[in-house]
Amino acid sequence: MLPDQKSQFVIAANRLPVRWVAAQNSWQPSPGGLVSAMMTSLSDLAPLHWVGWTGVAGEVSGSFDTQHGDMSLLPVSLTHAEAELYYSGMSNATIWPLYHDGVRPPEFHRTWWNSYVAVNKRFCKAIDSVAAPGAIVWVHDYHLQLVPKMLRERRPDVRIGFFLHIPFPPADLFARLPFRQQILEGLLGADVIGLQTLRSRGNFRRTVVSLKAGIAEQDEVLLVPQEATADSPPLHSPASQAIGPTRKVIARSFPIGIDVKRFTEAAASEDVKLRAKAIRDMIGVDKVLLGVDRLDYTKGIDIRMKAFGELLTEGLLSTQDCSMVQVAEPSRSNVNQYVELREEVEQLVGKINGLHGQLGRPAIHYFHKSQPFEEIVAMYLAADVMLVTPLRDGMNLVAKEFVATRLDNTGVLVLSEFTGASELLEKAMLVNPYDIDGMKRAILAAVGTPDEAAASHMKTLRQAVMGNDVHHWVKSFVDCLEDACAHDNR
Ligand code: UDP
Repeated sequence: MLPDQKSQFVIAANRLPVRWVAAQNSWQPSPGGLVSAMMTSLSDLAPLHWVGWTGVAGEVSGSFDTQHGDMSLLPVSLTHAEAELYYSGMSNATIWPLYHDGVRPPEFHRTWWNSYVAVNKRFCKAIDSVAAPGAIVWVHDYHLQLVPKMLRERRPDVRIGFFLHIPFPPADLFARLPFRQQILEGLLGADVIGLQTLRSRGNFRRTVVSLKAGIAEQDEVLLVPQEATADSPPLHSPASQAIGPTRKVIARSFPIGIDVKRFTEAAASEDVKLRAKAIRDMIGVDKVLLGVDRLDYTKGIDIRMKAFGELLTEGLLSTQDCSMVQVAEPSRSNVNQYVELREEVEQLVGKINGLHGQLGRPAIHYFHKSQPFEEIVAMYLAADVMLVTPLRDGMNLVAKEFVATRLDNTGVLVLSEFTGASELLEKAMLVNPYDIDGMKRAILAAVGTPDEAAASHMKTLRQAVMGNDVHHWVKSFVDCLEDACAHDNR
């Protein structure tokens, strides 16, 4: 595609699907299968543009290659101040904690908000510059919630989809946001708003109806007045019926899936199987418990470690036959709450290993570094029990990846009720992560699950994961957006 050509399909996300690798002095495709899986699914719609930030504040390096196969990348630059205010601040210290049930107190700052508005405007302009007449624009995630409305005002011809990858919070929590009206109006500029779960969808619809006057609701459809109202009614004022011409906005749950084929193929490969065996031999115990997370306070890493530590203290588990492996991938290390979390988790690891470890037998094998794909799959295969215990999580792909790799139907998944994944994976061992005794019981039950019962549950879990992969997700969302726009009166 020539640089000045426009696309019929545009993706907009905070990050481009490439990252700067300093050691190689070059831009490389981002690790992680989700982007490549999405690209395979979107190939029917190519050529397409992907609009996003490079992840590097300041000027984009001159060697930036904008062409990746049939996809053109359009970098949106952020200043150092914007990386601080829009990204670390408003996105990751206001919206992220608030939308995750306020598990850490969100901070509200007008300077962060102003920067968020400015960056959303820049994204909108960038999208406008590459979207062909009547194009489909798919906007992703919590960093860009104002873009749908901004884009609709600028480009009424395009079809706009928005997908929120994180949870949408209950109305009472959302209502704390000083910028709640602007964010709701921003989102309602879309034709289709996708949420991860039925719960998030319910929260979103209840929030819209309670906070935004003049919006009526019919099943999955919100009838939004053509001219957005600027008033800000009190939270519990009854919504009046929509008056005058309305626009339909669909709010529906589209649970994201994984690239199942990539995980099952890796799990079947000889190299990965050998590595899994080597990991087990090195750990040298009967039962391996595994956690794989970004080091994020939403993931409940500390809680599962405490539960494991108490079981060791009480003699209900022993490091003679049981060990935990925890991958805590570094994340957002310039946000204070993440710095504090790292200290807490690492103190806990030290405490538990100090009390219970033996020579060559630590209770917890802890890694604060990112592990490559094959190593993660080998760890999934080496584990007996997978611990996924977030306090709140939009979906949690790790739970689905673990299940996908268990080709022989072995293994037990302990899964927090507060993950999006639990809506699909009902046959997992579900836990309330706030209930430490319940978590201890679940870990004990998981360690002691007879093979037959584990296999029967894993079989059901695998069917659920296989039938809802990332290709299914992309197709469902894009089909819904195309349908919605084919039937409206544009
Ligand atoms: N992951 C990885 N290396 C690591 C840790 C995690 O590649 O060291 C991957 C993991 O396989 C999964 C993703 O990171 O695909 C985490 O996704 P999830 O939805 O579980 O959590 P998020 O980080 O998006 O909140």
